[in-house]
Amino acid sequence: MGNPNCEKCNGKGHYLVPNYQHDVMERIECMDCYAEEHYKWHLSEELSRVLVNASPQKLSMIISEIIVYGIDRDENNSLARIETIIQTKNINEALVLADIYGRNE
Ligand SMILES: [Zn+2]
Repeated sequence: MGNPNCEKCNGKGHYLVPNYQHDVMERIECMDCYAEEHYKWHLSEELSRVLVNASPQKLSMIISEIIVYGIDRDENNSLARIETIIQTKNINEALVLADIYGRNE
C-alpha cells in the first residue's frame, strides 16, 4: 500500500535495494509513503474531532448519498440492497457500505 505518485516506490509501498555484503536484494519499506499515510490518518483523526459536533441529520444525509451513489456505480451490487437495509433498519450494514464506498481506492 503506497502513494501511486511516489517516485521512490512507484506506489508499491516498498522497494528493493542491493545488499552487496550478502549479495541479495533487500526489501525496504518506503518511509515517504509511510509518512504520508500517517499524516492522512492524523488528519482524519483531527477532522473527526471537529465533525463530531456537526448535526446528525446533515452527517446521515451525506453518508446516505455516498452509499446510494456508491452502490449505483458498483456493478456487483444493486439498489435493492438499500431497500432491505431501510426495511430492517440495519445501521451496521449501512455503515459497512459507507466505509467501502467512501474510500477512493
Ligand atoms: Zn513510496
